[in-house]
Amino acid sequence: MREEGDLEQAKKTLDLYTDCGYLPFYLYNMTSNTTKNLLLTDTDISETSRRDGEQLERSKEGTIKEGRQVERKRKHESDTGKYHDDDKVENKKKTKTSREGSSVRPDDTKEPQKTSLSPDDFIFHAVLGEGNYGKVLLASNRRTKKTVAVKIMAKKILLDGRRDSTLTEQRVLELAAGSPFLVKGYGAFQTTSNLYFIMEHLAGGDLDTFLRRNMILDMNVIIFFMAELVCGLEYLHKNGVIHRDLKPENVLLDAVGHLKISDFGLALEGMFGKKTAREYAGTLGYIAPEMERGRSYNAGVDWWALGVILEEMSKRATHGRDPCEANLMLPDTPNHPECLTSDILDRLLCHSRSKRLRAAASIRSHPFFQSIDWKELEAGMVDPPFTLSTPSLDNLTSTVMEELEVSDSEASSSPVGSEEQQLFHGFSFARSSQV
Ligand code: ADP
Ligand code: MG
Repeated sequence: MREEGDLEQAKKTLDLYTDCGYLPFYLYNMTSNTTKNLLLTDTDISETSRRDGEQLERSKEGTIKEGRQVERKRKHESDTGKYHDDDKVENKKKTKTSREGSSVRPDDTKEPQKTSLSPDDFIFHAVLGEGNYGKVLLASNRRTKKTVAVKIMAKKILLDGRRDSTLTEQRVLELAAGSPFLVKGYGAFQTTSNLYFIMEHLAGGDLDTFLRRNMILDMNVIIFFMAELVCGLEYLHKNGVIHRDLKPENVLLDAVGHLKISDFGLALEGMFGKKTAREYAGTLGYIAPEMERGRSYNAGVDWWALGVILEEMSKRATHGRDPCEANLMLPDTPNHPECLTSDILDRLLCHSRSKRLRAAASIRSHPFFQSIDWKELEAGMVDPPFTLSTPSLDNLTSTVMEELEVSDSEASSSPVGSEEQQLFHGFSFARSSQV
């Protein structure tokens, strides 16, 4: 139960954000979602975190199962414009992919620890975002008070085609610990009903919201964003991971304005060397032509998506609306002529997969990035060229935020049967010092 004084305090916090002219997405939600039922359940954490041959066998089963359900899944997903079509991937290939992916975990040698986390360890405050398969909530750890983002997915829904990809998402979240340009996972656990990903909380919201709020962008901001995305993508690709769903909604800003790539739900592992895939996955508008045409593809699909993002941002640099609306002004800079942007766009949005990939290999030395010191950027020594007017959320704990009511009454959140529970074997890890 909240005290009245706390509610007052929460209102003041909302006013503070509104005064700053920037209201993070979750605070919008705070006003309407505080009593919403959430996909939270229960108490018991079922599984340990062994990831071995046994799990790979189950991977295989899962893939076959998903393959049969493709038609139904496509129908469901076409409403949202998001696709994940498994029937073009040979089951054999997919199994191999899983094996290769698991060999490139972060911190290299560390085996994931058995996790003892449960929903009871967290207080849930607000909805940060909702996707096709679950919700992302702002939460704080009851013991450490640390603020985190928790992605919750109902097992029932995942059985309908995305079980395998949650294991991939978990592995890539672990892998992300090695790069400051990817959203880090602190842990994952499961109950009989749901899967939980515990992630670092990015207080600046997603890039999509940011772009909608900043109709005009300084070219320096665009170059900075692009450079950070290049670093994030290169790290994924170096580790054999293709993201496949790069878009502004899946790029998050931290409290000061650094970008991090998130949402590894459609990622593909094991994509080393000349390996290609054919599976159709991604979001309409960001899908590369080779995937669109059902041809084989590689990491080039992510560079195409990056080109689409640059195109979206560069429209704001040159054809933005009334400068008074903008938080970040200055349409273009004289030392950065528009032709540099159009040249790099031509290279990223090149229809030839191999030409595009070749251009990406030397993208750091393109004159578009002449102002970027890559070493300093990667060392975290470059500040964003703008000020985000979001106060840090690190100190916001349950004392100033509403506690969400949780319920397991939603049908989609009910436990799955014991045989199906086995399919989620291997889902869980904890970096206990960080959660
Ligand atoms: P989905 O796989 O359903 O698309 P995402 O992981 O992309 O789910 O999360 C949905 C939304 O939730 C994002 O677009 C973003 O607004 C918000 N979100 C996700 N992760 C975080 C995070 N770590 N910190 C803050 N907000 C987040
Ligand atoms: Mg997403």
